Amino acid sequence: MATENPQKLRNDWTREEVNALFQLPFNDLFYQAQSVHRENFNPNQIQLSTLLSIKTGACPEDCKYCPQSARYDTGLEKEKLLQIQKVIEAAKAAKASGSSRFCMGAAWRSPHDRDIPALEAMIKEVKGLGLETCMTLGMLSENQAQRLSDAGLDYYNHNLDTSKEFYGDIITTRTYQDRLDTLNHVRQSGMKVCAGGIVGMGEQQSDRVGLLMELANLPTHPESVPINMLVKVAGTPLEDQQDLDPFEFIRTIAVARIMMPKSYVRLSAGREEMNDQMQAMAFMAGANSIFYCDKLLTTPNPHANSDMQLLQRLGMSPEQCAIEQDSEEQEAALHQAIEDQKNDHLFYRAS
Ligand code: SF4
Repeated sequence: MATENPQKLRNDWTREEVNALFQLPFNDLFYQAQSVHRENFNPNQIQLSTLLSIKTGACPEDCKYCPQSARYDTGLEKEKLLQIQKVIEAAKAAKASGSSRFCMGAAWRSPHDRDIPALEAMIKEVKGLGLETCMTLGMLSENQAQRLSDAGLDYYNHNLDTSKEFYGDIITTRTYQDRLDTLNHVRQSGMKVCAGGIVGMGEQQSDRVGLLMELANLPTHPESVPINMLVKVAGTPLEDQQDLDPFEFIRTIAVARIMMPKSYVRLSAGREEMNDQMQAMAFMAGANSIFYCDKLLTTPNPHANSDMQLLQRLGMSPEQCAIEQDSEEQEAALHQAIEDQKNDHLFYRAS
């Protein structure tokens, strides 16, 4: 059985094994997930990432859940690629509020080569603040992935979204293989991989099984695995989608934790609609990362203060940034960021 040796990383999960995990009684599943989690992580620490939209809306793709697609009328205000100074200000504010990773997202099918120099500059500046960097820009060619990696990008996010079988119901403008190819380019370039999916889009449990199998059976597990609950945005084709049983969402997190023991499992979009108890349950099931900002690209996210209060009530604390920085320099950056925040609310309105 797959979980006899939870320390061993596997990429040969069978459908029967993963199905069996999903069928476990809730308490038994929790026990396994907690055990695996404790063997690999401090169970009371949460990694905090901040996400900034650096280019908003007008995306040519047709992802049915996404308010940024140009094909759906969601009333979203479009924004061109942000000026670097605005990105730096937002990154400083993110750091000052406790984030260790700064993720920059652009609504593109894929970046143009002419955009790469501006992206490289953003990576260097944000990294210079002592933050880990992540970008999500759509599909990447081998060469683009290498250039971003050479500029110092730590993580690249590219989600598989759902199972191979259900994928065509959600997106028709790029293939599942396109996504796998981008993940491969990212891995080959030396960057860490952030890849997960969205649940609650009308898929079957077998699709959630399929998604987790695709992720866990990659040659190397993604270092970061965001599990999103669909945010039903008016104007998108999924706006009236039926709610997923919240326990099924928690099960998906627990199974992800068991299958990818050393990956950060991120409780991502959809937290705004989850009460504190459900978020606590997700942490107990093995989620150990959250987006910590008021907006996730374009959809609401719990206020940073309420997140801190929740962590405090649960006796949990933010994980420190992996990048060491001269403490004097860090103190100056924090001081400057707090000053900037007083005058500029970019961090809260961006994306
Ligand atoms: S999810 Fe990304 S690729 Fe799909 S429509 Fe939205 S911005 Fe475009």
